[in-house]
Amino acid sequence: MTIEEVRVFTTPLPAKQSYTMSNSAVATPYSTVVEILDSSGHKGFGEVCLASPQYQPAHNDGIRASLALLAPAIIGCDPITLNTINWAMNEALDGHTEGKAALDIACWDLSGKIFDRSVTDLLGGRRQENILTYHVIGIGTPEFAAEEAKRLQSQGITRIQLKAGGRDIHEDIACIHAVSAALLPDTDLAVDTNRGWTTAQAIQVSNACADLNFSMEQPCSSEAELSQLKQQISHPIIVDENSTDLRAIARMISSGLADGFGLKISRLGGLTNMRAVRDLCMATRTPISTDDAWGGDIIAAAGIALGATVEPQFSRGAWLAHPYHQTHYDEINGPRIENGFATLPQGGPGLGLIIEDGKFGEPIAVYK
Ligand SMILES: [Mg+2]
Repeated sequence: MTIEEVRVFTTPLPAKQSYTMSNSAVATPYSTVVEILDSSGHKGFGEVCLASPQYQPAHNDGIRASLALLAPAIIGCDPITLNTINWAMNEALDGHTEGKAALDIACWDLSGKIFDRSVTDLLGGRRQENILTYHVIGIGTPEFAAEEAKRLQSQGITRIQLKAGGRDIHEDIACIHAVSAALLPDTDLAVDTNRGWTTAQAIQVSNACADLNFSMEQPCSSEAELSQLKQQISHPIIVDENSTDLRAIARMISSGLADGFGLKISRLGGLTNMRAVRDLCMATRTPISTDDAWGGDIIAAAGIALGATVEPQFSRGAWLAHPYHQTHYDEINGPRIENGFATLPQGGPGLGLIIEDGKFGEPIAVYK
């Protein structure tokens, strides 16, 4: 069995509600979808979509450009040999994990269809029936944030991520207090600045909220700043943007810097690399979430497939962009959130989605 053709599509996923981070607001990201066809007649889908060009070094047009080098490198490879696929991609292009992630996910979906098994089974098997999700409250006033927290909890959401940073620090502190006052006893709060505070500001916030229970997600820009911060605050630190690869994650676990990770499939380069990170984090009892930075049903299904394999005790949940854009590629099986949980798509083997031919129009590139 060999990969014969890679088709690349793009499709818009506009935000239907406000989604504002410390450094950017989400408008209309264009997702990159890849479809891989093999010599046995099976096909698999992968996807990557970044919320904004300010969020990380990569951007959506760059992902599509990287596929011009990555896709030809895997033509002729056996799609079930995922390590070989990743070696071939790394030989063809350094970095550019996002394009690699799209192709890697498509090979996992394709492998599931070849073996007639779910991607969750291929990743080691299910440890959770329903996968916890969390919801984001964007940058806004304390009143808006508190109302959002109440609304989300009334829908069954028990994990809330409050965005902060990029404005007067006292507004952030007021929002954290307002949301904390609106939390039910079992609701977990993370305050995520997407690298938005200096170390001194993060210490100021921690001191001003010393009696409040929340974790700080990526409060500062660099691993060095986080390391400095860790010595001076008692709030747990969750690392997102700096969790770039297995080596960095291993270092931050062993130094005691990270109390948990927000993992992005696109940043780590796909499910193959995520599997290795998951195993390291489970072995070291480090909580993780399996997220991405935007995207539709395909990347959401990949995040849930991996999230289902995480020990419940160490699961920080999976994040889906669906509530913010309301778009489905598969109206029946596309992942959605009910009572704060997502379930695995049931449309068949692989990622469990049924995507009709022509769903994304004509391909913008074909490699064979
Ligand atoms: Mg984050």
